Amino acid sequence: MSCYRPESATAAGNAPAGEDHNPAALMQPRPPAATPRDMKNGARVKGNNVAPHGVYLPNYNILTPHMRSPEYVQMSTAAAITLGIMNGRMHRCSCTRCLNLLLTYPEGCRANCAYCGLARHREAERDYADRNFIRVDWPAVPLEQAVEIVARDGAATPFHRMCISMITHPRSDADTVTVLKRWTDRIDPSAIPVSILSNPTTMTRADVVRLRDLGADIFTVALDAATPVIFDRTRGKGVQSPHSWAKYWEILMDARDIFGPQKFGAHIIVGMGETEHDVLALVQKLVDLGGHSHMFCFFPEKGSLMDHLPATPRDQWRRVQLARYLIDYRAVRFESMKFDGSGRVFDYGIPESELEEVVAKGVAFRTSGCPGKFADDVSACDRPYGDSPPSNIASYPFQPNRTDLRKIRRQLKI
Ligand code: SF4
Repeated sequence: MSCYRPESATAAGNAPAGEDHNPAALMQPRPPAATPRDMKNGARVKGNNVAPHGVYLPNYNILTPHMRSPEYVQMSTAAAITLGIMNGRMHRCSCTRCLNLLLTYPEGCRANCAYCGLARHREAERDYADRNFIRVDWPAVPLEQAVEIVARDGAATPFHRMCISMITHPRSDADTVTVLKRWTDRIDPSAIPVSILSNPTTMTRADVVRLRDLGADIFTVALDAATPVIFDRTRGKGVQSPHSWAKYWEILMDARDIFGPQKFGAHIIVGMGETEHDVLALVQKLVDLGGHSHMFCFFPEKGSLMDHLPATPRDQWRRVQLARYLIDYRAVRFESMKFDGSGRVFDYGIPESELEEVVAKGVAFRTSGCPGKFADDVSACDRPYGDSPPSNIASYPFQPNRTDLRKIRRQLKI
């Protein structure tokens, strides 16, 4: 175990003081409201049954078309701009390196995760294809159009990776296979590797094998919550959602066996009431299993069941970002780190000069995720402003410059 001192023992030490973290008692989702029967399961979209024509941009002043995977997929605004099917500019980013393809259906995701803009409880308020997700709109695009553009661009494509993002839907497993096949029919997966952001709730071990055999490179499981209690509260029974911690771990362990070392990982959201000790213990466990953690800073997504709660304070986030990077890429062990009585890390377990070298390099503060073509520790999936506004960046989608690093040091209080 790492050094985890009770609060009183650190009062005179150099542990951070004050409310600089999101405590468990505060981070409670509100209960989901009931959806009127005639608005359930995408009834509005299916009732109107408007045929789609080409790209659909969310919140057009037209009825939401009836779009379904595998013919249609959604993608982030950043991916749509990079692909050239949507106009726009991103603050300090010329493009994103990951083309994320999100499965889409009028019924939407059948889960109800409390922090997520795609959750089922929004059925009455907003059609699925119009919902915000990780702070941005997700245009819907014919799959063939997206594949055609990337195949046509060949080696000139800006994308370093493609990621199929599953949702909780009865068609999700079969359609993920179809999307993967249609992609690999035209695009060599060794040129643009494919990641699967899975939905364990509907999956079996055989599904994981099939995706590996069809050419997927990395398999990730969005645990999101760092502890079983927070998992159940935010995406299980606590919000009438079907997920279970045990099932997520079952598929994660299948992925470890089937995809192998460095080819599986878990998403974790920081700041939903876990301690830094909790989340970094999980990071170490994943590394010991041979995998990686991909981290997100909690942000109160508009329309979600946690939209009344504070974003993760930057000092908490930076400490976890830095410690996670040391565990994932510098072989520093969680057990050598020291934590205060509230579970906050105050000693990273390496000499100050080494810590300074890592901070100065800046990579620790970039978005984490599956790697691209620049370096193993630089994620292709840079998710510009997916977990913060550009005015107060949590995950840097680019290399932080000297001004950024000054701000990061202030946030870390070093
Ligand atoms: S399963 Fe994924 S997409 Fe569906 S509500 Fe949960 S986090 Fe959102």
